[in-house]
Amino acid sequence: MPRLFVAIDLPEETKDQLLSLREDDLPPGRWPQRAALHLTLHFIGDVPEAVARAYQRMLEGVNAPAFDLRVQGVGQFPINDRPRVIWAGVQNTGPLRALHEAVGGALEREGFRRERRRFHPHITLMRFRKPLRRGPASRWLSAHIDFHAEPFRVEQFVLYESDLQPSGAIYTKRAVYDLNS
Ligand code: ATP
Ligand code: MG
Repeated sequence: MPRLFVAIDLPEETKDQLLSLREDDLPPGRWPQRAALHLTLHFIGDVPEAVARAYQRMLEGVNAPAFDLRVQGVGQFPINDRPRVIWAGVQNTGPLRALHEAVGGALEREGFRRERRRFHPHITLMRFRKPLRRGPASRWLSAHIDFHAEPFRVEQFVLYESDLQPSGAIYTKRAVYDLNS
């Protein structure tokens, strides 16, 4: 069964800016490959191929405007405990929320049940199998709290298929959708 998610791709310059963060010391964790840096809009998970096709078709109906995205700040999940994930933040602006809603709504019409958790847009930078200790984590986070990348225009979103491998997930584009410009 394909494992799916819907995401926004990042320009190479934004990835450069994100990857420059790794030059700083952090306890060893797993950095995603450059190609794997993205902003997830909705995680769908494993679905039968027929359902994947229905979602793929339904997303063609998403009607949302292109917009500017700002990547800024860094943070951790879980928020109030030793981190397993460190991320770069994304300004949750009106057009981003509108796109998130439009994609969620389109998938729901095909039976998708979306997460009840509030949308917290982020770009995963590091994962730790064993949660980080608080000291090094909070030192790194406070050192980079002012991080920001150049804003960029989002003109498309992508339906991805994820193939989980021991060395890290491999993402393949199933479909790319244009926003209204
Ligand atoms: P790995 O699981 O091997 O660490 P990955 O998390 O990059 O790799 P997937 O698990 O297929 O690959 O996830 C694809 C995208 O969906 C990632 O952005 C991930 O953060 C997000 N995601 C995965 N599971 C969930 C979930 N349960 N809820 C919300 N987002 C999720
Ligand atoms: Mg995962």
